[in-house]
Amino acid sequence: MSAGTLNISEIFHSIQGESSFAGWPCAFIRLAGCGHGCIGCDTAYAERDGVKLGIGEVVQKALAFQAPFIEVTGGEPLLQPAVHSLMQQLCDLDQKVLLETGGFLSVAGVDSRVHKIIDLKPPSSGVCDQNNPENIELALAAELPLRQSFEFKIVIASKADYEWATSLLHEHRLTDSCTIMMGVSFGKLDPSELAAWMLRDRLRARMQLQLHKYIWDPALRGV
Ligand code: SF4
Repeated sequence: MSAGTLNISEIFHSIQGESSFAGWPCAFIRLAGCGHGCIGCDTAYAERDGVKLGIGEVVQKALAFQAPFIEVTGGEPLLQPAVHSLMQQLCDLDQKVLLETGGFLSVAGVDSRVHKIIDLKPPSSGVCDQNNPENIELALAAELPLRQSFEFKIVIASKADYEWATSLLHEHRLTDSCTIMMGVSFGKLDPSELAAWMLRDRLRARMQLQLHKYIWDPALRGV
C-alpha cells in the first residue's frame, strides 16, 4: 500500500457513543485491520473487507458529513502509518479530530492537536497484558493543556475488571490528571452495579454507557 493510501472498513455518520464526546454527531473513519483478538470485540468485521482509498478521498468523504467532530477509529488505526498524515490533514483543515485506539500501540507520534481516546483493556478482554504502558507515561508527562488531549476508556464486564481498573488508576494517580471514562460492557454487567461500586469508592471517574448500542441494534454496523 502506498504512503498516501489507507485500508478503510467504513466511513459513516453517527452519534459518538463512548467517550467524553458521547452524544455529539460525529463522522467516523474506521480503518480496517487490528489482529489483537480481544474477547468481545464489537468491530471484528473490521478485520476483513477493507477497501484501499487515497487520503484525499477519505478526507472528502468525512468532510461531507459536516459533523462537529471526526473520529478516526478501527480496527486499530495506528497500525497503518498513513493514519498520521490523515489526522494531520484533518487538523490542518481546522477539524476537531478524535482518535480511538485499542491502547496496544504508543500514541507518541500522534499529532498533538488530536484528542486521544485510549483503551485500557481489563482482564475480561483476554489481552490485558498487552496494554502499552507508554501511553500512561505520555499522558502523565504532558503539560497542561496538552494533557487534556489524553483520555482513557475502560469497559468493565465484571467485578474483577473493576478491581483491576481501580488498582491501576490508584497506582498511577490517573484520576488526578486525566479524564477517565469507565463504561459497562453491553449486556455483560448491569450498569447499576458499576454505579454502586463507583459511588461506594468515591471514584473520580466518569461512568458511561455505550450510547450507540442503546440508540440502535447493538449488532448494527455503521453506527
Ligand atoms: S483492539 Fe479494538 S478492534 Fe482490536 S480486537 Fe480489540 S476491541 Fe477489536
